[in-house]
Amino acid sequence: MATNPGDHTSAASANRSANPSDGIAIGGDPARAGKRLAGKRAIVTGAGSGIGRASARLFAAEGATVLAVDKNIESVSETVAMIVADGGKAIAAAADVGNETDVQALVARAVAELGGLEVFYANAGISGGDVPMSEQTVAQWQEVLRVNLIGPFLALKHAGAHMAAQGRGSIICTASVAGLRANAGGNPYSASKAGVVSLVQTGANTYWGTGVRVNAICPGLIETGMTRPIFDRARAAGSQDKLGQINPLQRFGLPQEIAAMALFLASDDASYVNGQAIAVDGGLTSSLPFKRRAR
Ligand code: NAD
Repeated sequence: MATNPGDHTSAASANRSANPSDGIAIGGDPARAGKRLAGKRAIVTGAGSGIGRASARLFAAEGATVLAVDKNIESVSETVAMIVADGGKAIAAAADVGNETDVQALVARAVAELGGLEVFYANAGISGGDVPMSEQTVAQWQEVLRVNLIGPFLALKHAGAHMAAQGRGSIICTASVAGLRANAGGNPYSASKAGVVSLVQTGANTYWGTGVRVNAICPGLIETGMTRPIFDRARAAGSQDKLGQINPLQRFGLPQEIAAMALFLASDDASYVNGQAIAVDGGLTSSLPFKRRAR
């Protein structure tokens, strides 16, 4: 059952209510999945909501066995129940992705209970809110960096070591368009995501010669738990049709559209893609905010 605005299983109907995208084909639908992750074992963090939930469901629908992780055990257990109801294989775990002991234990648990680990999607993140710089504190910065940047670092450190020893693996991190340009997030959030973009570049080189690939996804505006306040405010003001209008596709994105990129990067289809931060943003970061040219 959908519990937040990012949990739609029918992508077309999800956008129909708010955006002029009727009839468009949208990727990442678990109902159309094949077996692109058959035999793979995957950890997905932030799997209790939004992009993480959509990714855990799509990975499982594509044949992976998933260790679904979130700090919120109720919501991630719900995700696992959805996967099992769809005929997939998953177990739930509560963990704090910014805590090294937790991340080490997750990798050990995947190896012990799933029988191995080929994919780690370090997706969990926090926004840090919209706080003016004059009111930002060192403690707020430290918490955003701890979850959003040190979390992915710990995934690279511990999952990467296991994958390097076995000679294969894919680590994916969720960065953001906020890590590429200003105005899509607060100062600490944007800095943390720029750090993730750098981390996948240096991380891919850390695992030089091992067969481990490290990549990031930079989503644009996606309807999830994190962005719910933006969507709620717009709907309350009757301005929901304006959401996502500043990219060339003129709509916001859905969690499964990010999951579709995560699936590609997790799979052997992306066997030569390494050290990249790929924007999935409707073309937002491809354009400057100037007047549109006539067609
Ligand atoms: P969401 O809030 O719906 O999901 C995030 C999940 O991460 C939640 O279930 C939360 O409980 C979990 N989480 C937070 N801190 C955690 C921690 N310390 N340990 C374990 N779990 C933790 O938001 P979302 O939009 O699906 O976010 C997923 C990722 O996408 C984040 O990294 C976010 O920064 C990134 N992102 C989102 C958007 C967007 O528009 N929604 C855009 C760019 C990037």
